[in-house]
Amino acid sequence: MHKTVDLRSDTVTQPTPAMRDAMLAAPLGDDVFGGDPSVNALQEKIAGLLGFEAALYVPTGTQSNLCAILAHCQRGDEYIVGQQAHCYRWEGGGAAVFGSVQPQPLNHQPDGTLALDEIDAAIKPDDAHFARTRLLALENTLGGKLLPFDYLRQATQLAKNRGLARHLDGARLFNAAVAQALQTGSDAFTEARRIAGCFDSVSVCFSKGLGAPVGSALCGSREFIARAHRIRKMAGGGMRQAGMLAAAASHALDHHVVRLAQDHALAQRLADGLAGIPGLQVEAPQTNIVFVDLTGAARNQSAALLQHLAAHGVQATGLYRLRFVTHLDVDAAGVDNAVAVIRQFFNS
Ligand SMILES: *Cc1c(COP(=O)(O)O)cnc(C)c1O
Repeated sequence: MHKTVDLRSDTVTQPTPAMRDAMLAAPLGDDVFGGDPSVNALQEKIAGLLGFEAALYVPTGTQSNLCAILAHCQRGDEYIVGQQAHCYRWEGGGAAVFGSVQPQPLNHQPDGTLALDEIDAAIKPDDAHFARTRLLALENTLGGKLLPFDYLRQATQLAKNRGLARHLDGARLFNAAVAQALQTGSDAFTEARRIAGCFDSVSVCFSKGLGAPVGSALCGSREFIARAHRIRKMAGGGMRQAGMLAAAASHALDHHVVRLAQDHALAQRLADGLAGIPGLQVEAPQTNIVFVDLTGAARNQSAALLQHLAAHGVQATGLYRLRFVTHLDVDAAGVDNAVAVIRQFFNS
């Protein structure tokens, strides 16, 4: 019954034995000289999969977004972005700190989108009073929510019509693609490519649901990636025999995309298991993240609940809401244990 399970994040996964084998077997070179065959192969693979000319392997999603914003924008420019977007709220303000690029945050609609009329109204006229609006940055999935594809098309077309570049923080792009494929009856790679096709640049994390230990890729035109490459070097992201890490990411693209559907099913299993517990309000998961709010008498019990969970082998976070994330190292027994432990807390 006491099966430990770590639901804090999909970043906590251990590389599988097959992934470790791929890492050990990777041919290596010095990537700062452009000479690491495994890095080059990964960059070509992800660019090809998503329909871009080029890609850049970077150590983190944070650095990927930073390189993207700084490659799209100059000092004194601004980017329109959601209040909860990772590249605004959760990256230490890096674009402003390192690039003097100002964010223009907008509130999210309940479905995670930014209202089209609010995007339109936030684009500044060409006037010396204002920062130059240069970029629209969206995120998909956002807090586990799949942004509707028609919305993506409309928002990115609006941005294009107004002369803005379009960047997607697709840390969990493949979770979005797998969920979207269920709606369209198509496959995840086709859907990932359709989503990416709305944008000038896309950042993808390998270290989240895909289960690699490290790394992200930034994709775009050859000319855009050349600018991002210079910024990556400035940011200290030029790694040498990085092919050992890139090989893990390549392995993940080959073996861990379609299986994301299992993570989504386990998130649903968790949500179903928690349904009906008084004091818990469970947001229906669309992908691999379950948000839970404590209500009524339970409102202030989140610290006590997290402690109870930890004492019974279940790890979760409650930075602003209780959050449970499923991933490669979570199975049905772990989810069922989490449900049992949470039920026990509310029954005692
Ligand atoms: C995790 C995450 C990032 C950043 O990834 P790190 O590799 O942790 O820097 C960026 N965007 C989103 C949406 C993320 O979830």
